[in-house]
Amino acid sequence: MSLRVTHYGEPILRKIGTPVEIFDAQLKELADAMLETMYHADGIGLAAQQIGQALQICVLDVRPPEGANLHFDCRFDGKALPLDVIMPLALINPQVEITDPSPEVYEEGCLSFPAVNGRVTRPAGVRCRFQDLAGEPHVIEANGLLGRCILHEVDHLNGVLFIDQMDKGDLNKNASRIKQLKRASRDFLKGK
Ligand SMILES: [Zn+2]
Repeated sequence: MSLRVTHYGEPILRKIGTPVEIFDAQLKELADAMLETMYHADGIGLAAQQIGQALQICVLDVRPPEGANLHFDCRFDGKALPLDVIMPLALINPQVEITDPSPEVYEEGCLSFPAVNGRVTRPAGVRCRFQDLAGEPHVIEANGLLGRCILHEVDHLNGVLFIDQMDKGDLNKNASRIKQLKRASRDFLKGK
């Protein structure tokens, strides 16, 4: 079931997610619904706040289109596994550490900000400790697009949005669109 994606201006996006404590069928259903929503919206990552729940769970799938090259390195529990084994991935209660602080700039988008894109500087490499849907602990190390996607999604789980870190010039360029989104969300919430 594809869920409604929350948009900028809805207070849920600024809420810090509470840790997941129960790893049951309901959690699996939530992760499946989040993945379906993400694929439906052509996204590569989605956090619980974006479907209206302040919980420490996000999903991602950064597999490149058929035939395209991978532009990142990834180790899962210390092993270089094929991406099809790792993805799609649900990160539950993730904790991120920076392994390579060199700044990288890349143009990001976000499903909660339709038609908004801008450059965001992030550290080049990360290590993320998390639990899977069964509650088992894992660690994923990544750089490039996957490292960035993990950082973007884990930010969501902590109420942080990509506009908070966006290049100031790009933020200005998007200012009217962002205002418009905020107004639309206010009207949507009023009508509820
Ligand atoms: Zn986002």
